[in-house]
Amino acid sequence: MPDAERVKEGLAELRGSVAGDALAPGDAAYDKARGCFNAMIDRRPAVIARCRGAGDVATAFDFARAHELEVAVRGGGHNPAGHCVCDGGLVIDLTLMRRVEVDADERLARSEGGATWLDFDAATQASGLVTPGGVVGSTGVAGLTFGGGIGHLTAQHGLTCDNLLAAELVTPAGEAVRGSADENPEVLWGLRGGGGNLGVATRLEFRLHPLERVVGGRLVYAGDGVSDTLRRYRDLTAAAPRELSCQAILGLDASLTPVLVVAPCFTGPRTDPNQLAGLRSAPGLLDDAVREHGFLAQQRVFDAGYGVDRHYWKGHFVSELPDELIDVLLARMTALGRPAGQVLIESLHGAPKDVDPASAALGYRGAAFNVTVMATWQEPEHDEEQVAWARETAAALEPWSVSGGYLNYMQADEPLERVRAAFGEGGFDRLRALKGVFDPGNVLRRNQNIPPPAILEHTAAATRLGRKA
Ligand SMILES: Cc1cc2nc3c(=O)[nH]c(=O)nc-3n(C[C@H](O)[C@H](O)[C@H](O)COP(=O)(O)OP(=O)(O)OC[C@H]3O[C@@H](n4cnc5c(N)ncnc54)[C@H](O)[C@@H]3O)c2cc1C
Repeated sequence: MPDAERVKEGLAELRGSVAGDALAPGDAAYDKARGCFNAMIDRRPAVIARCRGAGDVATAFDFARAHELEVAVRGGGHNPAGHCVCDGGLVIDLTLMRRVEVDADERLARSEGGATWLDFDAATQASGLVTPGGVVGSTGVAGLTFGGGIGHLTAQHGLTCDNLLAAELVTPAGEAVRGSADENPEVLWGLRGGGGNLGVATRLEFRLHPLERVVGGRLVYAGDGVSDTLRRYRDLTAAAPRELSCQAILGLDASLTPVLVVAPCFTGPRTDPNQLAGLRSAPGLLDDAVREHGFLAQQRVFDAGYGVDRHYWKGHFVSELPDELIDVLLARMTALGRPAGQVLIESLHGAPKDVDPASAALGYRGAAFNVTVMATWQEPEHDEEQVAWARETAAALEPWSVSGGYLNYMQADEPLERVRAAFGEGGFDRLRALKGVFDPGNVLRRNQNIPPPAILEHTAAATRLGRKA
C-alpha cells in the first residue's frame, strides 16, 4: 500500500532528480494534467511525473516502485478507457516530449514518445511527406500506433504500425530497449498492435511517403436516403482503388433524422474518380465539402472537443457489411428516442492487405471494416442507459465479427477473451511471452492488458478456486 506521507516527502527528491517536473494535488497545473478525452474519467493520481527524456521515465518508474504506486502512461490522453490516469498512483506523462525530427532525404521521421499527430503532421508536411496516422490531431502518435492505427491514408499506405520502423523503450526495470528489424525484431512485432504493454516509448521512427494535396473533406447526407447511401458507401469502398481511403459515421440529428457523414481522402492523379462521383451523387446529400486541399486541412475534418463528452465505445472488425446489418444499425440509432451517439465505419481495403501478417502482432488485417458504436453524451444520469445502448448495438455486429475488437477503441471493461481475439492464432501467447521478459510484474497494466504468464496462470488458479467455493 502506498504511504501518502512518504510519497509527499519523496516529491521534493523526485522534482530534484528529473529534468521535467512532478505535479501533485494542489499544484496549479495538476487538474489540467489529469484530464482525459473521456469526461467519464475523473481520477486523482498522487504524482504526475512530466518527463523530458528516457532518464526521467526510468526515474519515475523507480519512484513508483519505491512507493508502491500504480503506474499509468499518458501520451495524447485520448484513450476512451482513460488508461492515461489512475487514482492515487503515478502518471508517466510524456506531454513535454513532443519533438519530431524529419530526415527528408531518407524519408524518415523520429518522434518523441508524447508527440501528437498535429506535431507529427506539421513537421512532416513541412517537407511534403506523411505517414498514415489518426484523423484527430490531438491524439497521441505512440498510443495510436501501438494499437494499429487507422486513418485517412490507410488504403494508400497501410496501418500506422506498418510504417513504424523502430522504437526506443524504457522498461519498468529502467532498462533501455530498442525494437527494430535488426535489434529485437520481436519487440517491433509486439509494438505493432500489442499496445503499451512492453515499456514506455521515448522515441519512434517512421517511414514517410511523399504527399501534399488530397481530394477530401466531408459529404453529409440526411433523411431516408441514408440507408441507400450507406449501402453505396459499402459497395464503392469494397471496389475502391488504393488511392481512396474512406470512412463513414452514422448518427442522428436533434429531430431524430438519420445523418451520414462520409469522409473520403483521394490521392490519385485525377480529381474526380468514379467512386467519388458515386458518393457525391448518392441520395440525401445535404452538404458537399469535398475539395482539393492540403493534407493538414484533411487532418482537421474530424476535430473533436477534449474532455467535453462522456464516451463508451464498443465495436467489432467485420467480414462484411450486409444489408441486414445496415438495417439493424439504422434501427438502433433511434432506440433511445434521442441521439445516443454514432457508429464509425472504417474501411480496411487496400494497403493493409498487402502487408505480411507475420510482421505485426495484430490479427485484424483480413477484416473488411472496423465498425465501432460510440455512445456519446453529457449527463451523468444517462450513463447506464448510454452504456447499455452501445453494448446492445455492438451485439448486432457479432454474427459478422472477425478478430475481436479494436484495441485503440476498447473500454476498460472488455474481457480478456476479446483482447486475446484481437491478436489471431498464437499472437496472444507470443505477446505474453514478450511481456514476461520486459514487464514480468505487469507494472504496465493500465492498458488493454497482456498479462505476463505467471499472472495469467495465477488469475486462472484464482478463478478455479472461486468456482469450488
Ligand atoms: C477523438 C479521438 C480520435 C481518434 N482517432 C483515431 C484514429 O483516427 N485512428 C485510430 O487508430 N485510433 C484513433 N483513436 C484511438 C486512439 O488511437 C487510442 O485511444 C490511443 O490509445 C490514444 O493514444 P493517446 O496517446 O492519445 O492516449 P493516452 O490515453 O494518453 O494513452 C493511451 C495508452 O497508450 C499507451 N501509450 C501512449 N503513449 C505511449 C508511449 N509513449 N509508450 C508506451 N505506451 C504509450 C499507454 O498504454 C496509454 O495508457 C482516437 C481516439 C479519440 C478519442
